[in-house]
Amino acid sequence: MTTGSRQIVIPITELEQSAFCKTDGNLRTLTLEEEFQAGVRWQKVPIRYLKMTPEEVNDGIVNAREVLGDQVILLGHHYQREDVFKYADFSGDSYKLSRLASEQKDAEYIIFCGVHFMAETADVLSGPQQTVILPNMAAGCSMADMAQTEDVEDAWEDLASVLGDEDEIVPITYMNSTADIKALCGRNGGIVCTSSNADLTFDWAFERSKRILFLPDQHLGRNTALKMGIPEDEIIVWNPYAPMGGHSPEVIRRASVILWQGHCSVHTRFTSQQIQESRDKYPDVNVIVHPECTREAVDAADYVGSTEYIVKMISEAPAGSVWAIGTEINLVNRLAKENPDKTVFCLDPIVCPCATMYRIHPAYLLWVLDGLMAGLVINPIKVDGQTAIDSRVALQRMLDVAG
Ligand code: SF4
Repeated sequence: MTTGSRQIVIPITELEQSAFCKTDGNLRTLTLEEEFQAGVRWQKVPIRYLKMTPEEVNDGIVNAREVLGDQVILLGHHYQREDVFKYADFSGDSYKLSRLASEQKDAEYIIFCGVHFMAETADVLSGPQQTVILPNMAAGCSMADMAQTEDVEDAWEDLASVLGDEDEIVPITYMNSTADIKALCGRNGGIVCTSSNADLTFDWAFERSKRILFLPDQHLGRNTALKMGIPEDEIIVWNPYAPMGGHSPEVIRRASVILWQGHCSVHTRFTSQQIQESRDKYPDVNVIVHPECTREAVDAADYVGSTEYIVKMISEAPAGSVWAIGTEINLVNRLAKENPDKTVFCLDPIVCPCATMYRIHPAYLLWVLDGLMAGLVINPIKVDGQTAIDSRVALQRMLDVAG
């Protein structure tokens, strides 16, 4: 059992999260050398990529794609900057892209323009003959970094010491977690979920147990639990830096849902005040937010749903309708551009992209493509044997539950 308090370690990805925020609304891609000034960690890249102009980078990418042909598929997450997203063969949220990766059996190389946990999931679900590549290894996820394996293992031990080993608690991890955490869930009778099927996985878990440990996003966990009618006083937050998560054994035994103390720094920027301001400005506005937002923002919104749900809602909305969106700015900007007959804008007046997604600069994409043309695999993502097996178990349970 872990009894002492730990020193609080804020993930570096969290500290860097606002590095690319701007007030002038301009997210134009600069040379890599200029973007390095943002002061975040970037993976080292050969010097010749630093000064390349956007045109030179574009020419290089187009040429490499022609040469490499069907050997390569390129997946682009919705939150990627437009100057990378435009090259994607397939786009979607992390779950959709991972499934697509598993279906593309002919492509030898899957270049995942997203963040590290997504590339890991694609590797777990893709065939053994395929290699997943992440263009910039510094493209992590601050939320995934908030659930470190050692901390979660300690918490699991602590919970077992209070609850006993069997049938008392089922771990659920959000897709946005490392392969290690997914594997821990796979080994311990748990399951993976996405923001569109979290409620189904809660049902699945409650058929097997009285309690859920939900990792790593407290907001998705809380919003799902409340939506399902779980009383507020049965929902607690596990602080990994406090002994026993900050709770007495009695409180833990009374809890139905134990939320890991993690969050998304992008989605927690949205507030009920921003929602009120959008209503003041546009009386007939529809407010739609992602369930990684805080409860306060979710309660104040008109619609709540996953990235794919948001895309569908805006695309199918009637011409002339007005939409204020609480999700990542690159997606909001793209939806605004693709729906010129509607008024679409971001709830947050400050333009604040996900700083880890933003690290997939087109020059990094060119770098890994050039590598493949020269017979070099740069930045392969490989989940090791047992971790891949165990995380596949937890992913498969989700696929069985949610299809
Ligand atoms: S938007 Fe949030 S959850 Fe998604 S990759 Fe960025 S930090 Fe992680």
